[in-house]
Amino acid sequence: MRLGLFGGTFNPIHLGHLRAAEEVRESLQLDRLLFIPAARPPHKNATAVTPFAVRLEMVRLAVADHEQFEVSDIENQRPDKSYSIDTLRWFRQESGPAADIFFIVGLDAMLEIETWREYQNLFHLCHFVVLDRPGYALDDLHQILCQKLHCRAENDGQLFCHPSGRQIYFRAITRLDISSTQIRRLAAQGRSLRYLLPEAVRRYILTYKLYC
Ligand code: ATP
Ligand code: MG
Repeated sequence: MRLGLFGGTFNPIHLGHLRAAEEVRESLQLDRLLFIPAARPPHKNATAVTPFAVRLEMVRLAVADHEQFEVSDIENQRPDKSYSIDTLRWFRQESGPAADIFFIVGLDAMLEIETWREYQNLFHLCHFVVLDRPGYALDDLHQILCQKLHCRAENDGQLFCHPSGRQIYFRAITRLDISSTQIRRLAAQGRSLRYLLPEAVRRYILTYKLYC
């Protein structure tokens, strides 16, 4: 079993997330890829984040027609803040030691890894996949992985080996300069959201007047 886990606030999910996930699924030959909306994101202002159920529903709508894409509400099953270390421990236990688990993060998120709870231990639990993202530098990734996390760079900087034996893959996916922040801003201004996110999600946002 090759399992991909893609965490995020997904407020809302957009084509930057979805296209990246699809390219990772294909290139790493994942059997399943789970989108995991954060229930209580530790890095974001709780009152400013759209309710979990609404974000979950938008992810559901976005992945409904994809056989290998699924959504997990695991982070809402815990009462505390949504720390990735807890989520990864849960999936490791659930899947067994032999499963190949790939935790997918954007380059911007990986560059802040030192602010994550127990970040050193994350790399003992699973492999990582880092998605390229416009506006963030690959050199900074090398610096963090090689100097702070003591990884060895291989394959022209496309692959990093952690001392734990786990791997960190860099993926130069199609760079789509789309963010949820931009979508929320456009919605607040009553501007078009077309072609930035799945049509079903766009209609959901308009129907429920989200982000107005
Ligand atoms: P916000 O603007 O609210 O922070 P976002 O667009 O960054 O939203 P998140 O839910 O924060 O979306 O992101 C979830 C994960 O997806 C993060 O690891 C982030 O780095 C990654 N990601 C988001 N958008 C892109 C994109 N356009 N290209 C590559 N990775 C992305
Ligand atoms: Mg973000």
